[in-house]
Amino acid sequence: MLDLDNLSADLATALAHGDLYALYQPQIDLRGEQICAVEALCRWRRADGEAVGPDVFIPAAERSGIIHDLGRFMLDECLAMHDRFVATGRAIDVSVNVSSMQLTRSSFVDYLIAQAAKRSPGAPTMTIEITESMPVSDMSVIVPRLEEVRALGVGVSLDDFGTGHASLAQMQLLPLTEVKLDRSLIQSASRKAGRALREGVERARDRGLRIVAEGVETEEHLAYARDLGCDRAQGYLFAAPMSTSDVEAL
Ligand code: C2E
Ligand code: MG
Ligand code: MG
Ligand code: MG
Repeated sequence: MLDLDNLSADLATALAHGDLYALYQPQIDLRGEQICAVEALCRWRRADGEAVGPDVFIPAAERSGIIHDLGRFMLDECLAMHDRFVATGRAIDVSVNVSSMQLTRSSFVDYLIAQAAKRSPGAPTMTIEITESMPVSDMSVIVPRLEEVRALGVGVSLDDFGTGHASLAQMQLLPLTEVKLDRSLIQSASRKAGRALREGVERARDRGLRIVAEGVETEEHLAYARDLGCDRAQGYLFAAPMSTSDVEAL
């Protein structure tokens, strides 16, 4: 049975034992209809066979501070994947989710910067995905660090865009390269939501940001994403998150 109190301790053990791993979900370029990027998503292979999703264990990792080790592990996985894409001459970008707690820790950002500096310009991009649930107090720390990261060619994506009230305000403050429209918006047919969404997309477009649709499950969702003017789409219609070897076989 899943014991929430022990979740953090279990996570620490899992990390130490190599029971955490990354799956990669392809993103499709809506012009060329080709895979242009993959997003790394953390998975936990529990010994008891019970499935715990990142929606549960990431918040637990943030509460306990294990997110720092977990986040470093995921970044290393993505750097290795990025190296393989570069080595095989494939123009596929790699995205990784980064918790705002990680961005306030200088050792993490320093490491990211050092790794990015080693990569040659013109290589596929690395992108970090951040969510808008970022404490305003942290913004003065995070924004200049993100600018350093950007200066080395790393992209910054605002994930789950459109789900929070702070969206537009935060979008203005952060040095972004991309917004990812939350799947609830892509999957919702409500006209009222649609108006606000179009406004958000327009502002993002004005800033020259890339727009990615998340949670594209049906042809209808895809048509909506195209109609909104999205550059890229991600979702079960194209591919579920897959293993490293499946990505390489593509
Ligand atoms: P996210 O970054 O917004 O990732 C997208 C989520 O949508 C993933 O859930 C993905 O598996 C799921 N998804 C993809 N396509 C579809 C679709 O067509 N339909 C539906 N219904 N879902 C789709 P997942 O893997 O469970 O991850 C949940 C969240 O956990 C992520 O949301 C992200 O916020 C967080 N997360 C995952 N891995 C990491 C990580 O390494 N670090 C951090 N900080 N957060 C992570
Ligand atoms: Mg994401
Ligand atoms: Mg998202
Ligand atoms: Mg999410």
